[in-house]
Amino acid sequence: MSKIAVVPGSFDPLTNGHLDVIKRAARVFGVVKVAIMNNSAKDSLFTVEERMALIKEVTATIPNVEVETSSGLMIDYAKSVGATAVVRGLRAVTDFEYEMQITSMNRVLDESIETFFIMTNNQYSFLSSSIVKEVAKYGGNISVLVPKPVEDALKRKFVL
Ligand code: ADP
Repeated sequence: MSKIAVVPGSFDPLTNGHLDVIKRAARVFGVVKVAIMNNSAKDSLFTVEERMALIKEVTATIPNVEVETSSGLMIDYAKSVGATAVVRGLRAVTDFEYEMQITSMNRVLDESIETFFIMTNNQYSFLSSSIVKEVAKYGGNISVLVPKPVEDALKRKFVL
């Protein structure tokens, strides 16, 4: 039976850093379910539907990647889809403390689901959705930071 892994996040919007983690997870796990979590306290620029359409378009060529959305607890979502693993990306030490907290909490909620971390590619270690939005807002070149459909969507949001 192929192992199902969940890659959860806000993906507001998807960056090349996220895409790299998704692709690498897809090489290891049988099925990768990208889960757009819709319960964040963060204000989002893109609606869940917009984020979903962008991720679907960009990952269309990877056969074992699926994109879904969830508004409950991530670990409940993972359990409901039969996942045995959660995959998160790690950029810097600053990510570590937060991820450690979330992972420990998730283990309390369900110890049968294991969390795996994929270390960022050096070229993406500075990359986040927030920084991409900030650069796009002021008309900076984001073409090497995000896939083309995301670049176009950001341009439309900021009417450049
Ligand atoms: P969240 O709001 O849950 O942090 P994000 O959409 O910001 O969700 O990120 C989803 C996942 O992708 C997280 O595990 C995050 O650490 C990881 N990630 C974000 N940017 C990068 C990057 N540049 N390289 C590697 N992993 C990343």
